[in-house]
Amino acid sequence: MEIIRAKHMGFCFGVSGAIETCYNVLKEPENLGKKIYILGMLVHNEFVVRKLEKEGFETIEEEDILTQKDKLKSGDIVIIRAHGTSKKVYNILREKNIKIYDATCIFVTQIRKTLIKMEDEGYEILFVGDKEHPEVKGIISFGKNIQVFKNLEEIVNAEIKRDKKYCLLTQTTLNKKILEKIKSFLENHYSNVKISDKVCGATQVRQQAVEELSKDVDILLVVGGKNSSNTKKLYDISKSINESTYLVQDENEIKKEWFRGCEKIGITAGASTPEEIVINIENKIRGIFNV
Ligand code: SF4
Repeated sequence: MEIIRAKHMGFCFGVSGAIETCYNVLKEPENLGKKIYILGMLVHNEFVVRKLEKEGFETIEEEDILTQKDKLKSGDIVIIRAHGTSKKVYNILREKNIKIYDATCIFVTQIRKTLIKMEDEGYEILFVGDKEHPEVKGIISFGKNIQVFKNLEEIVNAEIKRDKKYCLLTQTTLNKKILEKIKSFLENHYSNVKISDKVCGATQVRQQAVEELSKDVDILLVVGGKNSSNTKKLYDISKSINESTYLVQDENEIKKEWFRGCEKIGITAGASTPEEIVINIENKIRGIFNV
């Protein structure tokens, strides 16, 4: 029996950074005894969130801040999650004299900064992404006149005027192949659209790695939160290639019968899955095979 890990898997740069921020906040002497909140789910993984709660962090919902149902008091601390938040939430937190630690991933911040800069230079923004996703809601809240599109079809039908200048921005996790198609359409039809390619590589390399690995193994386990969209994407890619693909949150969900007759076992993990869970799973598999 051989366990093979995907070439790229697990925590991405932004998630590691956000978790590190949390522990650094705890270590600072001036924060001792203060109430520390994390805005929304820091990362989409129950295990990580529960562990942080045990350390004393409390989760605060964006919605509660916006509707003033929160319990925030002057001097409390709020850590902003990896995928950021809206301008309005930042403003409310500042008005309430909350100490903000911003764990927004640098890739998200770069898109936000580009948006502000391009609008200042007179560009209108075309944005491709899921408008219900917190990252997108957060980024576009910093702009004025933004059209949001889900996919190429929506862009094809968009009203793009020849006498205006536009800048195309995207959600960090947009599929690179989709972006290439959008780029090619816009370049062939419009000379007045500037394209800013800031798709984050972390998701792409994980998807490519699972695509390769799933062809080569008898069974593939995707480890991650069931509400994590990047984990679900890894599962879908692998499942379309290898029928014996299973999505598990932790070692307790593993079933012995999955491994009957298997020699090569592949593993990948979503960008918010801690290494600790992957190791527990590998140990459980070794236990099943008695090696
Ligand atoms: Fe940042 Fe990319 Fe990770 Fe999102 S997936 S937190 S953009 S590194």
